[in-house]
Amino acid sequence: MAKRHRIDPSDYRSIVFLTGAGISVASGIRPYRGPGGLWNDETLVKFSDLETFRKDPLAVWRFMSETRRISAAARPNPAHLALAELEVRLEAEQSLTVITQNIDGLHRRAGSSHVIEFHGSVTRTRCSNHRCDFPAFEDPLLHADSVPLCSVCGAPLRPDVVFFGEIIPSVRGAAAMEALADCDLFVAVGTSASVYPATRFVEWAWKRNARTVFVNVESFRDRDPVAATWFREEYIGPAERILPRLFGEGLDEEELDGYRPEVLEDLPEARE
Ligand SMILES: [Zn+2]
Repeated sequence: MAKRHRIDPSDYRSIVFLTGAGISVASGIRPYRGPGGLWNDETLVKFSDLETFRKDPLAVWRFMSETRRISAAARPNPAHLALAELEVRLEAEQSLTVITQNIDGLHRRAGSSHVIEFHGSVTRTRCSNHRCDFPAFEDPLLHADSVPLCSVCGAPLRPDVVFFGEIIPSVRGAAAMEALADCDLFVAVGTSASVYPATRFVEWAWKRNARTVFVNVESFRDRDPVAATWFREEYIGPAERILPRLFGEGLDEEELDGYRPEVLEDLPEARE
């Protein structure tokens, strides 16, 4: 009989998902890498840059307004919804944190309540003056025609995303590390296994003896032997097909485009 795969969330106390662009592709948001990926797009690199914002904030706002419009028009897909539903099913002593590299706001809109938006959210606006205490806010407006100004200090407002040339705000890094500190199930979804922060996070989880799972349309094991040692298992296929079933009624081997089974019997002692 074909092997059936299922993860029972009740077996875990502290669950952490790390999600990347792959989880939002089915919502109509282009991936960062690969054919047609945003990463190949010179426009994205140019208009997501701190220096460009300093020189020409309106050009950045024009570009980001389009990104905001696309995000607002997108709908959470079954993968986002599966994580939100999983949270509802947990007992009081269990926790679930979603750390996302995406700026589209779709996890929050799907209903997940513990979301760390590592790179910020294009749906929010904040002041560009770091000494100003005007708080970031949800902003449905597009600012393609003029740069909005802060009502407190008069500086240009900016999208609440991390630009190239900026570091991740330390509060988000600290929140992620706190979630990972006692994590016993770590699942990376739709993200490259070989770039930061996935590499760092899975290493942390692995050292705490968490079950480490990789879900993506592509396997990484031939390309990245280091990451392959940190992920105990992988399920290959679209996130929107795999997640609802993997954490629900289970899915058969034939429904996967590939997998690497776990070996949980021989978990080594906690590593440091
Ligand atoms: Zn301000």
